[in-house]
Amino acid sequence: MLFRCQSVDQVASVLAHELGHVVARHVAEIRASKRFAASLFYFFGYRGPLAEDLVTSRLIEAEADHIGLIVMADAGFDPQEYIDLRLENLRREEERLDGYESLPEFLSTHPTVGLTASLNTSDSS
Ligand SMILES: [Zn+2]
Repeated sequence: MLFRCQSVDQVASVLAHELGHVVARHVAEIRASKRFAASLFYFFGYRGPLAEDLVTSRLIEAEADHIGLIVMADAGFDPQEYIDLRLENLRREEERLDGYESLPEFLSTHPTVGLTASLNTSDSS
């Protein structure tokens, strides 16, 4: 995503998002989730993706977005640049799909539809 940035504010937004992961200790959260999945495999023989993993991943990404927006605004960067970058990425994704529907959000690791809807809502105000 860093290579798609077209301004210093967009670079700052990517870094602020990643900082959001660090501040919220997401690596520890993911490790705990993986340990839970490993215990399911040990006790029940279940091996496969957990719906909880996908939900956790979307929540983690949304939380990193939230923290990142606050961090970059506090540092004097324009949070709108992050929103523009995310919308541009969604537009590129739609182009790449060329009319095919993307995975439903519940199968996605990142917030998509909800984020787009909330961003579009904030655009109209
Ligand atoms: Zn992230």
